Amino acid sequence: IKKIGVFTSGGDSPGMNAAVRAVVRACAYHNIQCFGIYRGYEGMIEGDFVEMDARSVKGIINKGGTILKSARSKEFRTVEGRKKAHEQLIKAGIDALVVIGGDGSFTGAMIFNQEFNFPVMGIPGTIDNDIYGTTHTLGYDTALNTAVEAIDKIRDTASSHNRLFFIEVMGRDVGHIALNVGVGAGAEEILIPEEDLGLDRLLESLRRSKKSGKSSSIVVVAEGDRIGKNVFELADYVEENKTEYEVRVSVLGHMQRGGSPSCFDRVLASRMGVKAVESLLDGKSNYMVGLKNDVMNLTPFDQAVKGKSKINMELIRVSDILTV
Ligand code: ATP
Repeated sequence: IKKIGVFTSGGDSPGMNAAVRAVVRACAYHNIQCFGIYRGYEGMIEGDFVEMDARSVKGIINKGGTILKSARSKEFRTVEGRKKAHEQLIKAGIDALVVIGGDGSFTGAMIFNQEFNFPVMGIPGTIDNDIYGTTHTLGYDTALNTAVEAIDKIRDTASSHNRLFFIEVMGRDVGHIALNVGVGAGAEEILIPEEDLGLDRLLESLRRSKKSGKSSSIVVVAEGDRIGKNVFELADYVEENKTEYEVRVSVLGHMQRGGSPSCFDRVLASRMGVKAVESLLDGKSNYMVGLKNDVMNLTPFDQAVKGKSKINMELIRVSDILTV
């Protein structure tokens, strides 16, 4: 392997820049050329490449977003699109890839690898932590900190006005963000897709906490929660059912995807970038790098894509106990 191409794809997440930096620097360390590919698969098809040396990634370890930009490419989902991408890579002399993205990006990489036997390694970049094979995806820790900070601020206004706040956090179909942020912010209830609390139990719990002397409360709701109502309908329902709280809703939204990466995410990105490059140099391909028990490991793409990341059930119990 002489030239590695690195790109960010799908939804962006904090720490992607730190991972690009790590890939570029690891290449420089091992005397391999590195090319940045702009706008994910879109830029690959167009041949939008830039050569990157160790100095070209200075000052980005602390930056949110991705300097390489990200995109979703319809064309790459077609054989013709992927053929074009392959031709562009060959033309530029790029002979291996590091893709930083989510499961969609890995699926694309896996198909590309099957079709052209092109060496590729993945780095899981998403705030949702919804990828099997790693306890932490890149950006997840930063998103937790951003959401907790936001909820702390909402709590100030909630307690000043004796209000009940429903706060929706991101996480797609999994409750990792909601569960951790809920415990971290001391939420009264946490609604996640993995556990159906049910509307009756929610009302009962809120009435109980009102009786126990609480004047304000926070309920953290995962965006993928399936209680059967969206967060606004849920708030209306609770207000109509006489829990004696004045109810408000806050959807944290895309702010959770931005900002300077936490120290944890910067370190994780650095380790993942080095591991991805060194795995390619070891002749490995078609794997995602991940973290388990503080050790870097590799998971085959098909398992990473198909497997389910599990939430920590202990946290549910901890939350139940601490909201006594
Ligand atoms: P996130 O989950 O954070 O949004 P992601 O990587 O899952 O990130 P997607 O939009 O699902 O985001 O995928 C990114 C890109 O990967 C797509 O725009 C497409 O170009 C490519 N891709 C996804 N699935 C396939 C597929 N089945 N075949 C070929 N390419 C694919």
